[in-house]
Amino acid sequence: MAEKSSMIKHPAFPVEAWEIRETALHLNILAQTESIFALSNGHIGLRGNLDEGEPYGIPGTYLNSVYELLPLPYAEAGYGYPESGQTVIDVTNGKLLRLLVDDEPFDVRYGELESHERVLDFRDGVLRRNVRWTSPAGRTIKVSSVRMVSFTQRGIAGICYEVEPVDEALRVVVQSELVANEALPDRGKDPRTSAVLEAPLVPEEHLTHDTIGLMIHHTKASGLRIGAAMDHYVDGPEKTIIEAESSPDVARISITAQLKPGERLRIIKLIAYGWSSQRSRPAIHDQVMAALGAARLTGWEGLLAEQRAYMDDFWQHADVEIEGDPEIQQAVRFALFHVLQAGARGEHRPIPAKGLTGPGYDGHTFWDTEIFVLPVLTLTLPHAAADALRWRYATLPHAKERAQQLGLRGAAFPWRTIAGEECSGYWPASTAAFHINADIAHAVTRYVGSTNDTEFEEGTGLSLLVETARLWHSLGYHDAAGRFRIDGVTGPDEYSAIADNNVYTNLMAQHNLRSAADAVKRHPQEAEQLGVSADEVAAWLKAAEKMLIPYDERLGVTPQDETFTEHEVWDFANTAPDQYPLFLHFHYFNLYRKQVVKQADLVLAMQLCSDAFTAEQKARNFAYYEPLTVRDSSLSASTQAVIAAEVGQLQLAYDYLGEAVLMDLDDLEHNTRDGLHIASLAGAWTALVAGFGGLRSHDSTISFAPRLPKGIRRLAFHIMFRDRHLHVEITAERAIYRLLDGSPLKTWHHGDEITLSKDEAVSRSIPPVQAGPRPSQPPSREPAPRGP
Ligand code: BGC
Repeated sequence: MAEKSSMIKHPAFPVEAWEIRETALHLNILAQTESIFALSNGHIGLRGNLDEGEPYGIPGTYLNSVYELLPLPYAEAGYGYPESGQTVIDVTNGKLLRLLVDDEPFDVRYGELESHERVLDFRDGVLRRNVRWTSPAGRTIKVSSVRMVSFTQRGIAGICYEVEPVDEALRVVVQSELVANEALPDRGKDPRTSAVLEAPLVPEEHLTHDTIGLMIHHTKASGLRIGAAMDHYVDGPEKTIIEAESSPDVARISITAQLKPGERLRIIKLIAYGWSSQRSRPAIHDQVMAALGAARLTGWEGLLAEQRAYMDDFWQHADVEIEGDPEIQQAVRFALFHVLQAGARGEHRPIPAKGLTGPGYDGHTFWDTEIFVLPVLTLTLPHAAADALRWRYATLPHAKERAQQLGLRGAAFPWRTIAGEECSGYWPASTAAFHINADIAHAVTRYVGSTNDTEFEEGTGLSLLVETARLWHSLGYHDAAGRFRIDGVTGPDEYSAIADNNVYTNLMAQHNLRSAADAVKRHPQEAEQLGVSADEVAAWLKAAEKMLIPYDERLGVTPQDETFTEHEVWDFANTAPDQYPLFLHFHYFNLYRKQVVKQADLVLAMQLCSDAFTAEQKARNFAYYEPLTVRDSSLSASTQAVIAAEVGQLQLAYDYLGEAVLMDLDDLEHNTRDGLHIASLAGAWTALVAGFGGLRSHDSTISFAPRLPKGIRRLAFHIMFRDRHLHVEITAERAIYRLLDGSPLKTWHHGDEITLSKDEAVSRSIPPVQAGPRPSQPPSREPAPRGP
């Protein structure tokens, strides 16, 4: 089999609008496909491992927020360094269905896999598989399966597994299992992977009876108790035998049948998960058995129907249609499907950088959530955005404690975490990256502005805004000239650290301080309970007003931080293409002293704080940062797409859109095996909607400035905004705005006010754009050109 890292360009992956279809199995990209075909509802995550368990790239079954603690050792420790880390663990694997065909295990590495197909169906919300295999002894079978993780019953997953002989009678045994503490492959040295813990689950209970199996374990240090249970419907020939057995780490239901050609063995496996840090073993036992009972009541067909209805509803409010580029059409639906899977049923739990698709980054949640994922959910599935922010709120006590430890007021949220405590041992790019706090505040104001959810603001949003405003006020200071400075912090670009007055940070902090003051005005009683005084609010507003936003008069551009533009430019000419990502080849000491940008920083400020820059400044700044930005992170292309589109570089925006949306299908960072890049996938939506749709959110309004690149003939998308359902349709010449539901809404088209009502669509022509020359990127870092 030829080496290949890319998937979608391969003929095994045809371009189809509503699915990812794999028509041949390539073992060298098995791990990557396990991430691509992962199923999740934000609570349970199942990697797309083959039903039989082996071969695998990385086996993986995850439950949101189930983690183990591990020590964070330092060669030279320091005050305030976190001592304990958290890592996601592979919990009890319930998706196993091992198959024996006349004494021969069905294993695609042996015999002949005559046909293989897997389909991730975005409309049905299931993964389908169809194979035909001949064993080394010459017996041929057909196996098909349908797998789902339910969106409507969040503790439930299910598999329908069917086996059929092709031309002669066969004896088949299906061993349906729950397996805890399965062996995991070593993960290598890349800092973006994860720790591998040996047997993290301690057995507490195991049982089987009839078609039911159950296992309960707990983690050693984090003190979490996890239950998994399964039940089966078996439809086979009359003499089908069912046997059950269990041991501490394996529960097994074995189903044996003699099948004649034309006969089929059909097994429906329902799997239930539950976990808690507090509930007792009997309580968890009952919880998973009850979840199974409820799923049995619905039945397999019922679960499929509920799933389809859930997906129909989602697409009705979130679909993006593209004409002219079928590959992007497919990829953007894939992206939205996985964003949905990451956030749908998290329910007061985090949305990790990889969702629940793999162990990368130890399952941690970063600023990716608030800046890249929540803006998409806020305008498509708002309750999921609120839930993720409620998780942040639940971690507020840890953030306050951390602020205190750092000698600061308010709350200092962690750079990376699962349960709320800081888990990064590398402080220059974590503790110093205080912008995470303004990012959270930004997501709060976006959510409240886009939903008018005052209940959320009162109970959750206000505290998050107040405590982060307190942090900024104590982190910065007024210098002799009265300017409010925030020194020694790290912005989004992790190739610069501990810099003074990072513009992104200062603008976001300014917005944070003002938003907190506004929220206090709206909720005076609740603010009083938080101990907010009029003097404190006045101090926030003064800091915001006096916020130092540096400007380089000499170059006529905004420096990323006060001294950034004075630094030597990185020697791009002598950096070989295989030396990227730079952090794997150069010491941070080298990177920090030079003008080289890992990922959009000032350019992201121009997207999120759009009104702080004039159109001319945006164009100049973009042209300045493009040749310095290497995109050594997946969190850059989408932002560059948005600003490229705004400054009229439509083809460049289109190229960046391609990179953001194909990040995982094309394995552009070469680590999709560890899980999907959820922020980049969410960014694909943003590149389309904020880029080519020109959508900008202001406090409680939105505006549009649509403009398409040549390769896209038509772009249409939905927006959920303040109880309205909007549909926007864009072609080269016109934009048509429709209000599908809700009361009239004032918005803007390229600066012209328009009012949308349900009575009639508003159609406006798209003004022409004048753009300067296309900016260049560092050698070998140009995005792949898109288009015919
Ligand atoms: C990026 C961070 C990001 C993290 C997780 C890193 O490569 O530089 O900004 O939060 O990946 O996606």
